[in-house]
Amino acid sequence: MPKPNPLLATVLSAAIALLAHAQPQYYHNANIYTMDPENPRATGMLVGDGMIWAVGSEDEIKDQMREQGIRVFERVDMRGRTIIPGLIDAHGHMIGLGAIGLGVLDVRAARSYEDVVNLVRDRASHVPAGTWIVGRGWDNESWADTRLPHHAELSEAVPDHPVWLSRVDGHAGLANAAAMKIAGVDLSTPSPAGGEVLRDSQRQATGVFVDNAEGIIGAHIPDGLTGTAEECILKAQEMCLAAGLTGVHDAGVSPAEIEVYQRLEAEGRLQIRVYAMVHGADAPQFFTTHGPIDSFKLSVYSAKAYADGAMGSRGAWLLEPYADRSTDAEGNPYVGLAVTEPGAIEQLARHALEHEYQVCTHAIGDRANREVLDAYARALEGWDPPVPEGREEHPGHRFRIEHAQLLSRQDIRRFAELGVIASMQPTHCTSDMRWVDARVGATRGAGAYAWASLLKENAHLTFGSDFPVESHNPFLGIYAAVTRQNLDAQPEGGWNPEQRLTREEALRAFTIEGAYAAFWEERIGSLEFGKLADFVVLDRDIMTCDPADIPGARVLETYSFGERVYQAR
Ligand SMILES: [Zn+2]
Repeated sequence: MPKPNPLLATVLSAAIALLAHAQPQYYHNANIYTMDPENPRATGMLVGDGMIWAVGSEDEIKDQMREQGIRVFERVDMRGRTIIPGLIDAHGHMIGLGAIGLGVLDVRAARSYEDVVNLVRDRASHVPAGTWIVGRGWDNESWADTRLPHHAELSEAVPDHPVWLSRVDGHAGLANAAAMKIAGVDLSTPSPAGGEVLRDSQRQATGVFVDNAEGIIGAHIPDGLTGTAEECILKAQEMCLAAGLTGVHDAGVSPAEIEVYQRLEAEGRLQIRVYAMVHGADAPQFFTTHGPIDSFKLSVYSAKAYADGAMGSRGAWLLEPYADRSTDAEGNPYVGLAVTEPGAIEQLARHALEHEYQVCTHAIGDRANREVLDAYARALEGWDPPVPEGREEHPGHRFRIEHAQLLSRQDIRRFAELGVIASMQPTHCTSDMRWVDARVGATRGAGAYAWASLLKENAHLTFGSDFPVESHNPFLGIYAAVTRQNLDAQPEGGWNPEQRLTREEALRAFTIEGAYAAFWEERIGSLEFGKLADFVVLDRDIMTCDPADIPGARVLETYSFGERVYQAR
């Protein structure tokens, strides 16, 4: 595993040297939630050289200043405003978010295929014929008719513009006739390995291209239309900083995208802290040749694997058949899809332990979660690494399960036992609760998004949004975690309310636990002496306001390493 300490000292001294001339700032008259259990509340914070020099009451800070011989400083009156640590989204997709920010048509709000067609028709009326229209975010599972769309409706409404619309999960896309014509798709177009060109009963392409077949259309979309990786990352960074996120875990990047991050950091343009998970297929090679990367703003020491699909599309791998599709086309019990053999996940985990990186595995169904826990357990058997130099104990493997949506009772305990982090998304719960019971029945549904049960068993629980699948706004996540209600406050009392969290627990999962899940907990995640000054100023006290007012919380200012990187206008 990475050993942040010695390296951090080097990076820090270099960074501090750049800032050494700046005056320390004393933020006073503030309402501070530190997330430091030993000193949870404060009214003042002294920041110098990008670091937190003191947190406490006016008197405590003055004592500190005397002790440290600080006479010259800038006084910043916060006028009672709330300050929290910089928020961390532990599972998002920066390039996908940036693409939407750059003008890729966002159809996430569509509640029917007709809605999607109308959005595209509207866009087409504003751009010249022949121009590509690229969009993303349709989700047939959120429509009344949940069947996959057929291009005919779209092609009729938008005949003169080639159209390509990615599904919300990015695992399929819909093309119209004009796009398929450009790509030369006809009856003889074969499905590539690892992908499928869906066809209707007439053997005609339906317009839906799955996984590796997406490239058939994608190869014809002009470059720059969806933005380069760099443009997308910079746009997503701007959106995240404005939402109060000072750290993100980018859940699946290619080696080429890591190079973009490295270049941005070298040029001083990476303001947000990025912990990037390398695609599982690339990871063994990447970590064998590069080793872990741990620079000031960029951490690369984890791999992203997939155990199953998603519950909405019945790809989640279950212990028992789906309640609403108990058999497959051949009449065999239908339990979803095993996307990666558990043996391959175990192999990746062994390689990771040997080469000191983390494994983060997507697992949604209860069977997938059990298989991943089993695979991790087998890999961890007999693992007893030496304590790194300069540390009192080994930081641990910190293997993660991404999503962990449906858990069998008996597996909940195993997260803490094995030291596996549950990396979950509260807004997935409030989006999915409409149909979870239909998929798996109410009994199994009670083990879905089991945040409180995981905490009760002392598991590490970290939160994110899976943006752009859900909004990147972390206050929506905090609201979902404490209410288990949608934005209309439904259902009354919350869905399976015994799994609700306190605001304190929810904020921990978006701050210090997000830091822990990235091996960053000694640097950030709470406001305490010696940590980096990543913090956010809010327009309201999200810890005491009416829960209904949490989603509307506005970020007034965002600071990273003591520097203001966002200010509301
Ligand atoms: Zn994701």
